[in-house]
Parts: sequence; structure tokens; C-alpha cells
Amino acid sequence: MEVTTIVLAHSRITAQFAQSCLCESIRFAIRLVKQPTYMANTSLTPEQLEKLIDLSFSAKTRAHAPYSKFRVGACLLTQSGEFITGCNVENSSYGLSICAERTALVKAVSEGHTNFRAIAVSSDLVDNHISPCGACRQFISEFGLMDIYLMKPDRTYIKTDTDALLPFRFTGEQLDGKKIQLEEQ
Ligand SMILES: [Zn+2]
Repeated sequence: MEVTTIVLAHSRITAQFAQSCLCESIRFAIRLVKQPTYMANTSLTPEQLEKLIDLSFSAKTRAHAPYSKFRVGACLLTQSGEFITGCNVENSSYGLSICAERTALVKAVSEGHTNFRAIAVSSDLVDNHISPCGACRQFISEFGLMDIYLMKPDRTYIKTDTDALLPFRFTGEQLDGKKIQLEEQ
């Protein structure tokens, strides 16, 4: 159990190592943290990163946040080099509100983009880098590995990625996994 826990925490373990493992419990643990089947090119030029950050800041100014007053902006960089922004959009029926990250992703997908290099997320928090909510982490993870820049207004950031932000996430692979057979009624 101890070894399994260590492997589970190591999200970048290689397939070669998985093959060499004799312990079935470790193989199972590795399957749980397997990388997406495609690997994104996440390397950004300094100019792309600057633009990504700038656009996340400008997206924040368009936030519709009359209730929380908590403005958030996001900007995606697609694999084809396009920048797509989003802001949080609140509603008087609070549960209908949508975060900036998901706004940007929904906009991007509706325009035909499903492969992304990076996303930057900005807020007005002075003392802390913004941290995406659980729903957005799962939503981002749907689109595989990408770099994630968690900003502060002073332009400092924490650079992370999909795997680090949401380990053990639910994926489409699990939907296709072997299941117990329910008895026919
Ligand atoms: Zn969110």
C-alpha cells in the first residue's frame, strides 16, 4: 500500500516503467494516473506568454460579477496559435454563474478549437495567486495536458499543468472501463 501511494503521487511515471513493474497493484495505480493519449506542445515563446497574460488581464475587466465583486479573466492559447479569452459571468440565480476558465473553453470549443497549449487565469487578489475551482479543474482536464498560469495582478504567476492541478481526475477512459454487469430486470 505504501508503494502504491508513492506511485500514485508520481503523475509523470513512464509507460516503460509500468511495463517493467511486476506488482499488479502498481500497474493499477499507474493506469489511474496515465497521461492523456495525446501530448500537447505546451512550450510558449516569451511573446506568447506576455500576450496570454495581457489578454487574461483585459478579459478580467469584462467580468460580470455584480454579486461577488470577484472578477476573473482567462485566456487560452490554442495549438494553432490563437488566443481566446473568457471572464466570469454571474447570474442573480447564483448557481447559473460560470467561471472565466469555462467561459474561455466553451468559446474556444464552439469555434472549433479543442487542443490547447496553455491557459492563464487572473483575478484581483493581491496576496494570493488565483486558484481555479474544482469544476474548472475537471473542465480543463477534459482537453488534456496544457500549461496553466495562475496569476496575481503584479504579473507574478504559478506555472502548473493539468495533471498537477487535478490528479486522479475522472476521464473518458473510465467511462469505457470494464464494469460489473447489472442483472437484467
Ligand atoms: Zn471555476
